[in-house]
Amino acid sequence: SKRKGRNRFEYYNAALDERSDVLFNLLQQLRPAVLHNKLAVYYQPLIALETGKVCAMEALVRWPQEDGSLIFPDQFIPVAESSGLINQLGAFVLTEACEYCAYQHSIGNKYLSVAVNLSFSQFRDNSLPGIVKSALQKSGLPAVSLELELTESILADDHGNIRKQLEHIKQLGVQFSIDDFGTGYSNLNYLRAFNAGKLKIDKIFITTLGIDQKHETLVSAIINMAKSLDMQVVAEGVENEAAKAKLVELGCDIGQGYLWSKPIPKHEFDVLLNS
Ligand code: C2E
Ligand code: CA
Ligand code: CA
Ligand code: CA
Repeated sequence: SKRKGRNRFEYYNAALDERSDVLFNLLQQLRPAVLHNKLAVYYQPLIALETGKVCAMEALVRWPQEDGSLIFPDQFIPVAESSGLINQLGAFVLTEACEYCAYQHSIGNKYLSVAVNLSFSQFRDNSLPGIVKSALQKSGLPAVSLELELTESILADDHGNIRKQLEHIKQLGVQFSIDDFGTGYSNLNYLRAFNAGKLKIDKIFITTLGIDQKHETLVSAIINMAKSLDMQVVAEGVENEAAKAKLVELGCDIGQGYLWSKPIPKHEFDVLLNS
């Protein structure tokens, strides 16, 4: 009936209000945390499957709380994206990551590169190329040792000026990876033209690899496609030996996942590199 419908509508509105309250409160706390550099960057190793050695690391942001707990990026990155805070957050992560990698180079680990995630909304104004440039200059990290991770949707967007900014950043000598591959829409033609160095297969296809056969054909096809485009293939979400063995069999180059390490703070990463 009409009345029932109206009640339902009012209930829906109340739920919506409550949700926007929660997001508003989160933003109220996130803003000062970002502005005063209170976020933390954790690092997860990428392992060359042939040698078993660390070849790179991915920078992943966390928000430490006063009680010692961490808030994970899936909870606050969307808030940062929709509020414009993402530019400052992104600049912080880039600077931290470049500085830590430059430190590793300074103690002899020059082979190491660092990967930093980029959001669609970091391309909204034209500030990104300048932010990348200044992170490299401040840290002294060679541009080739920085990798930027882009999702398929960023690459698929051919209107706006995203591609222009990407070309600008590329000219600095920075490397690119395609993140979460297999979950989005890819313009395969542009994927080839863009010439990213690495393709990262999304973890939803990897975690059960070697245990059930569901994704094996797809993973194999992605690896072969990436090779034919001269890209290195990274499998993320490698959690066990069975998945790793299957990836080696399929010719995957690099693994990342809890099998080796979860993302850890830099003092723990120092220890991991020396062990
Ligand atoms: P992502 O770029 O796909 O990062 C990989 C996520 O998988 C990370 O989650 C990582 O901790 C998790 N992971 C790694 N190994 C395994 C595994 O073996 N099994 C499983 N189940 N998960 C694994 P995290 O750190 O919570 O980050 C979530 C997402 O937040 C990232 O997904 C990325 O899209 C975004 N993000 C993180 N840091 C940043 C940042 O600095 N800037 C931007 N724009 N986005 C970020
Ligand atoms: Ca990533
Ligand atoms: Ca990913
Ligand atoms: Ca992701």
